[in-house]
Amino acid sequence: MLEVLNPATGEVVERLDQATEEDADAAIARAKEAFPKWRTVEPSDRSRLLRRLADALDAEKENLAQLESKNTGKPLGDSRGEIEMVVDTFHYYAGAPERLLGDSIPVSGGVDVTFREPLGVVGLIVPWNFPLTIASWKMAPALAAGNTLVLKPAELTPLTAIEFERIARDAGIPEGVVNVVVGPGRAVGQRLVEHPDVAKVAFTGSTAVGKKVMEGAAATIKRVTLELGGKSANVVFADADLEEAAATAPAAVFGNAGQDCCARSRILVEKSAFDDFLSLMQPAVENLRVGDPFDEATDMGPLISAEHREGVASYVPEDAPVAIKGSAPEGSGFWYPPTVLAPLTNEDRAAREEIFGPVVAVIPFEDEDDAIRQANDTIYGLSGSVWTRNGARALRVAHRIETGVLSINSNTSVRVATPFGGMKQSGVGRELGPHALDYYTEVKNVYISTEGEEHSSEPWARSEEGA
Ligand code: NDP
Repeated sequence: MLEVLNPATGEVVERLDQATEEDADAAIARAKEAFPKWRTVEPSDRSRLLRRLADALDAEKENLAQLESKNTGKPLGDSRGEIEMVVDTFHYYAGAPERLLGDSIPVSGGVDVTFREPLGVVGLIVPWNFPLTIASWKMAPALAAGNTLVLKPAELTPLTAIEFERIARDAGIPEGVVNVVVGPGRAVGQRLVEHPDVAKVAFTGSTAVGKKVMEGAAATIKRVTLELGGKSANVVFADADLEEAAATAPAAVFGNAGQDCCARSRILVEKSAFDDFLSLMQPAVENLRVGDPFDEATDMGPLISAEHREGVASYVPEDAPVAIKGSAPEGSGFWYPPTVLAPLTNEDRAAREEIFGPVVAVIPFEDEDDAIRQANDTIYGLSGSVWTRNGARALRVAHRIETGVLSINSNTSVRVATPFGGMKQSGVGRELGPHALDYYTEVKNVYISTEGEEHSSEPWARSEEGA
């Protein structure tokens, strides 16, 4: 029996049966059976069904947001924004089935065209930090391209995925096209990775498990996309709007209690502006309201579990240089205060490892080259920001930072219409935007000869004709 907790109270909110490998096999079999029909649904009808699903999600968005907050502890306003993105994502990809265009390539003796075809059954494995949002980034393009799917949510946060399956069924998505299986990663997740009838696995989670997924997928040469960890840099030059950079830096790392793969968890500040930056940042950290997710004034909720809180706390030993510390409630719930460690070097453990909690390392740099060197001195390459008023410098640095997404004078990372994904050990492939569709389709090349019996393309035949 799986006990699902509310991290803000530590109380059990739901008890569920835990799926096994056999349940995963059964879901894969249902998805396999549904695939031939779903892939041949007329593109315009597939669009209509996805639009209907988007509307159904829209109609239930408040329920879904409440459920997400109850299960993750994130502030209700954040959950509402996330579910809004789920709806937008389905609307966006609802337009895709009729736009899965191929090419027509000039060749000798015929016509050459390419088709974009669905892969088959896709296995989707998602984490607990943005449960339905990250699932929607995978489900919407997968379905639009004509694939059927098996979704495995994280065991800590399965509630909105279960609701999603019901909403999809009620919206008329055919039986077997969407299948949700709630069970442990090492059983259900691994089964999706190994099963010969699964054509592709799209995984979001830790880099450690991502490596296992890649390894497991090799046995059947499965396609994989991986969205993994990060240790993104927020690079602040002395010529930046320091007030704006400092006022927004806390939200860029403490949002979702720091449990965000795009968290700017290293703030690199030019040495001459270092002290000013910290002073400007202090009120923004101290004023963060940490507490009840259902209080509209709350900025930050608890961590996902007691075990995770222990891991986060290990990055702040007794002798850690805590420069700024916010507040957190006492008592039940997995609370941890926003914590700023400064000055740190890029060699310190808190600057090298993904903490996935509200702890940030602030590190000084000398000049542009040093900033880029330090920003790139990590195994990760997911996100990041550059703050400067010098446009040429902004573009120079943007080119040289090894990261999949980057913002200039902003801390945003994700938009429905733009590609998202990592370089280096932050992952493989891209989600969102038109790019995601490439990862849920296979290109088939078809050559059609236009030669008749009387028309051979052989050069010697042509020369005989001409003789
Ligand atoms: P995990 O890697 O522990 O788990 C992610 C998912 O994988 C869960 O559903 C988990 O199942 C499942 N899983 C665990 N073991 C296996 C296995 N052997 N085979 C297949 N599936 C498995 O990550 P967390 O859930 O702890 O999420 C946090 C991590 O996710 C962070 O490192 C973060 O950076 C990353 N992340 C990356 C994002 C990105 O887009 N790049 C976005 C969000 C998070 P279960 O837990 O139910 O057992």
